[in-house]
Amino acid sequence: MACVDICREQAITINNGLERPEFDYLLCMKCGQCTDVCPTGTIVKGTAGFRVLLCDKLGRHPALARELPGIYDEETVIKIVKTCIRFYKEHNRHGELCRGFQ
Ligand code: SF4
Repeated sequence: MACVDICREQAITINNGLERPEFDYLLCMKCGQCTDVCPTGTIVKGTAGFRVLLCDKLGRHPALARELPGIYDEETVIKIVKTCIRFYKEHNRHGELCRGFQ
């Protein structure tokens, strides 16, 4: 399967004039699947790790998660999760939102 076909986000187009893939970084989810199938090695993996998305609520409804900028290793992700849990325990009152953690 070609990299264009494997991308479920339709983030890749082939620019025939330049004969190389072009990415729509607003659509790209950084899943890395295109790097696994790239036949020419044009698309390569950079930093490997985890994206961290923090969720919130908008009134009674879930809000879209916001992504912390960057890619994190496993140890750092665990620290972030522990920090979030500690913050929530310290600042949450009766199920209210923790507005200070933004
Ligand atoms: S990393 Fe994933 S979402 Fe981004 S272009 Fe490649 S396949 Fe598509």
